[in-house]
Amino acid sequence: MSISAKQYCADLYQRVIKRNANEPEFHQAVKEVLESLIPVLEKHPDYIELGIMESIVEPERQIIFRVPWVDDAGSVHVNRGFRVQFNSAIGPYKGGLRFHPSVYIGIIKFLGFEQVFKNSLTGLPIGGAKGGADFDPKGKSDMEIMRFCQSFMSELYRHIGHDMDVPAGDIGVGAREIGYLFGQYKRIKNTYEAGVLTGKGLSYGGSLTRKEATGYGLIYFVNEMMKAKGLSIEGKNVLISGSGNVAIYALEKVRQYGGRVVAVSDSGGYIYDPCGIQVSTLKQIKEVNRQRIFEYVKYHPTATYHEGCSGIWTIPCDIALPCATQNEIDENSANILVANGCKVVGEGANMPTDLAGTKVFLDNGVLFGPAKAANAGGVATSALEMSQNSMRLAWTFEEVDARLKDIMVNIYKNTSQAAEAYGLKDNLVAGANIAGFKKVAETMKAHGV
Ligand code: GLU
Repeated sequence: MSISAKQYCADLYQRVIKRNANEPEFHQAVKEVLESLIPVLEKHPDYIELGIMESIVEPERQIIFRVPWVDDAGSVHVNRGFRVQFNSAIGPYKGGLRFHPSVYIGIIKFLGFEQVFKNSLTGLPIGGAKGGADFDPKGKSDMEIMRFCQSFMSELYRHIGHDMDVPAGDIGVGAREIGYLFGQYKRIKNTYEAGVLTGKGLSYGGSLTRKEATGYGLIYFVNEMMKAKGLSIEGKNVLISGSGNVAIYALEKVRQYGGRVVAVSDSGGYIYDPCGIQVSTLKQIKEVNRQRIFEYVKYHPTATYHEGCSGIWTIPCDIALPCATQNEIDENSANILVANGCKVVGEGANMPTDLAGTKVFLDNGVLFGPAKAANAGGVATSALEMSQNSMRLAWTFEEVDARLKDIMVNIYKNTSQAAEAYGLKDNLVAGANIAGFKKVAETMKAHGV
């Protein structure tokens, strides 16, 4: 090899920036992975020579489409839909759909890229993809959501299939949206292809534990990470940003392990309650009433509401679990968390800590569970849903939960061993990137250029 692995990665990163201009989130995700892989490429120059590195940062296919829909007043709106099918080396494309006004190709590309490594870490045969739309579900009626989902699927259906690409939920897409999307797919295709989407309702092929899986999986991972250092969640104060599906079930599991969650948030602000946040109230507000988080203070007099979401990281805690969205913890918030005694961070959202924030945690010896590993329980359970759909049977809650736990324990083992093998003990960011990458890279090598 004529140039060093380090120089190769620096050059490749520049090519990625040039080819994907104005997509900072994607650049960030690629930068972190390339930096972690330098020691691997020093040992395996063939990954460079065979074009595997060049290929792994370029999606196999990117689909952008128009999504017209009619609101309740009869006005027409046009949104933009996306599906980025990033890598199918180890299985059909798999990854969620995000409906949020911030969505553009750069967000979908970063999420699809992360999904490749995360899905590989689960040990299950799923490739990586992501999709979504710049549609804002906030304040929309049920019928508007339904019409939007139907229009979205009227184009997406031709690009997906149970052996080709299997979407699921992400921010703004839950069981209700998956139901409308599935109904439209079935109508158009005239086949009952249960495994074409995951996160389905239980009456039509959904899996028990899927709803809880990302949050529960996160806590199984954090528990493993702490156990390895002789620590436990019991008696610890925990901050959880977000109040969606991931946050709610992370909270539920923290309580089962004897920890106390003192704050949760949404995009408007956060709730602080030193007595501990009640999961039943949170479920009522978010899952049933579909309300904003400030409603919580009406039910619990010890709770206070504070506007602005980054303020949550100024509350002293032992464990911080960012479960809202990308780049919610920057260098400043990370420094405040460390100064206030935070010892453990588990990423429930995708890329919630920026590169400078991650460095602060690693430099200060914080146990840091990166998203690709720590939040992989959701997609892992989606793959278990696909298995059940293929077999046309349904496992019990306990059976799926036990498999999920096993998967998370294995992910911890594989990421920590990969880090150690490359002399990076306790750097699970590098460990997750290396372990996730190697399986995909070996498979791409086996498949030929
Ligand atoms: N959106 C989730 C994730 O970020 C789940 C994807 C899936 O189940 O396919 O991993």
